Amino acid sequence: MSLSIENAATIVPLSGDGPIRGEAMRSIEVLEGASVTIDGGVVASVGNGAGGGEGRAGGGEVAIDATGCTVVPGFVDPHTHLPFFGWRADEDAARLSGLRYETLHKESGGIFRSQRMFADAGDDEVLSFAMSLASQMLRKGTTTFETKSGYGLTIEAELRQLRLARRLAGAVPQTVVTTCLAAHACPPGKGEGEWIGEIAEQLLPQVAAEGLAHAADIYVESIAFQLEHAARLKTTTDELGMRMRMHADQLEDSQSGSFAARWGLQSADHLNHTSLAAVGDIAASDTAAVLLPGATFTLRQNKKPPARNLIEEGAIVALGTDLNPGTSPIHSMPFAIALACRIYGLRPLEALVAATVNAAYTIGLDDQVGRIMPGRRADLVVLDVPDFESLCYRPDHDAVLAVVCGGDLVHVAPGAEGRVTGDLRREANG
Ligand SMILES: [Zn+2]
Repeated sequence: MSLSIENAATIVPLSGDGPIRGEAMRSIEVLEGASVTIDGGVVASVGNGAGGGEGRAGGGEVAIDATGCTVVPGFVDPHTHLPFFGWRADEDAARLSGLRYETLHKESGGIFRSQRMFADAGDDEVLSFAMSLASQMLRKGTTTFETKSGYGLTIEAELRQLRLARRLAGAVPQTVVTTCLAAHACPPGKGEGEWIGEIAEQLLPQVAAEGLAHAADIYVESIAFQLEHAARLKTTTDELGMRMRMHADQLEDSQSGSFAARWGLQSADHLNHTSLAAVGDIAASDTAAVLLPGATFTLRQNKKPPARNLIEEGAIVALGTDLNPGTSPIHSMPFAIALACRIYGLRPLEALVAATVNAAYTIGLDDQVGRIMPGRRADLVVLDVPDFESLCYRPDHDAVLAVVCGGDLVHVAPGAEGRVTGDLRREANG
């Protein structure tokens, strides 16, 4: 099956290799009046149709007229808490009335409530809930995403959540990676050290043996775990050949962002309270700084991560939704991109790099997804705006006109069918 996306106002292919840092995040090549061809699930050519650039595009079995549109790589969401079950809108309402998240957490709300909802739901219920969200993410242009455990909080329940995450991966068109976040909260009645010991000695070896997760993650915060616990898990992940990530400095400065970088972790996520001194450690490392403005927005946090410092000093800055039922009930990468620009001060093209190339690096897939390049998996989004800046400028405009995932046209926005020629019914069944 071949597909072509023709005559786009702009295409931002982000060609190259590896993560993009510093000033290069905004000095990005933008092609005008260009087309993309796709064959057999991979990109065949990207180029300026009129000028006959590298590979004159056009003439696929299915063709999309992208006149006036912008084409970008499919979004990569490097931080979600799927698969979970059920929402917690009442807690949000309580928070809007002044209750603190830490109080909800201590009173068995928050993570513990999601743990009970997950335990009470059947496997098929959890899967269909998660698949519905994955399908909404696809319609917003997310063609790759990360999933996590962390609502099990017993060895068996964590394994159950990870196995469900892998079933989800097999049931959706997107590329999905999975992380073990058993160190999300300490199960009631257990000491932190005791639970971390069980994760290290029992859970992670089993996770590695079954290939259920590529990385482990830990929530370092006064209401959760300490750096000594992270160090214990790091020893185990090193032994098992797994990567490690860290929820760092979200609610207070615990220096976890700095330690994540010095330990060479895969990522340090959130970073709201990360000090300027720690920015240097992160910038000097290969640890991705994952910004999650959906949580800052939902929690109405005044304290923002030092995002501009991270970019100017050359950190690998990535962007995700943090989709979860407590602190970020947000699944849309275009919305996260708009928030990153509005409340963290990213420039639009920096946010695009963070949401594609650098997000792919964060989850170890930067040689596979996040760019539109010949030979790469064909994941891309057609946006109904003439340039990428307009996506940030009009945050509530439903700009996603079409989504191609693995070379298949998986979504066409209602009303845009007239732009597609060829057998739309066969291809657009997502
Ligand atoms: Zn998270």
